[in-house]
Amino acid sequence: MSILVVGSVALDSVETPFARAEDTLGGAASYFTTAASLYSQVNLVAVVGSDFPREHLEFWRKRPVNLAGLQICEGNTFRWGARYHMDMNARDTLYTHLGVYADFHPVIPDEYHNSELLFLANIQPELQLEVLEQAPAPRLTVLDTMELWIMTTRPQLTEVIKRVDILLMSEEEVRQYTNCSSLVTGVRRLFDLGLKYIVVKQGSYGALLFGADGTFFSAPTYPLEEVIDPTGAGDAFAGGFLGYLSTVEPQANGQYAINDIKRGVVHGNIIGSFVCEDFSIGRLRALTMDDVASRYRTLVECSHFDPNWRGGTTV
Ligand code: AMP
Repeated sequence: MSILVVGSVALDSVETPFARAEDTLGGAASYFTTAASLYSQVNLVAVVGSDFPREHLEFWRKRPVNLAGLQICEGNTFRWGARYHMDMNARDTLYTHLGVYADFHPVIPDEYHNSELLFLANIQPELQLEVLEQAPAPRLTVLDTMELWIMTTRPQLTEVIKRVDILLMSEEEVRQYTNCSSLVTGVRRLFDLGLKYIVVKQGSYGALLFGADGTFFSAPTYPLEEVIDPTGAGDAFAGGFLGYLSTVEPQANGQYAINDIKRGVVHGNIIGSFVCEDFSIGRLRALTMDDVASRYRTLVECSHFDPNWRGGTTV
């Protein structure tokens, strides 16, 4: 099953309290594409400027990544700069230069039309809508966004939310969008827009899955001792989530089994944890499915507890 993604491909400059990296490969679609191509074919729709280093394209060409929908335009590649706090769950955006994204209109090539899964990675909601207009009814559509779009293009973002199956949002973004201090109340308001599932990303604390059918699942986090750079963890999470789902068949009714959705969230957490171990896509480059499987086993072990206690009696 192939996955279509539209989102940013960027050059990032990132500073943590301990190190910095300049003009490294970044962008939501870059992290997603690199992560999800560990599982299946990824069809990328994005734009880069004439200054974009060709070595990054060469890297993707060696993986199951289709670049037919990647436009290369005269001008500057999207650039983003950020500085992390000592608690690396928090960061300040220093600048966002849209560059060639300012005039970009995504075009989905014919050869992408059989993509069963669609990921609308972080980018202007207007562009996400343009992709929805062109995409021929994928089985599952997943959306990610960011504070900037919640604050500046809320009506357009709401239009996109109404048209997708699954929304990925950080806990902070749920609060910003819904204006609710209770996460559970905020999530309930989001379900009014017609979503099937909402995944609330909690940075180094894991992720929560909510279903419109009442499903609640708390996915554990992998205990990393050293975080080098958390940038892209959310996008890599999406890559692990949709990557895993691309390897399983939906049920006869076309819906994914809830256990598969839960496994997808765990894969998301695992791939997200790997990304944090280096700047840019450094750690994802050589990642193998054996590495993923080993972390999967650890997470099962550390989140499993005895279900047999009934309470009420003491000996
Ligand atoms: P994450 O850490 O998962 O939130 O993703 C950070 C990545 O998103 C960075 O590589 C940035 O280049 C990219 N990014 C930052 N701001 C935006 C934006 N407003 N639109 C699209 N992509 C962005």
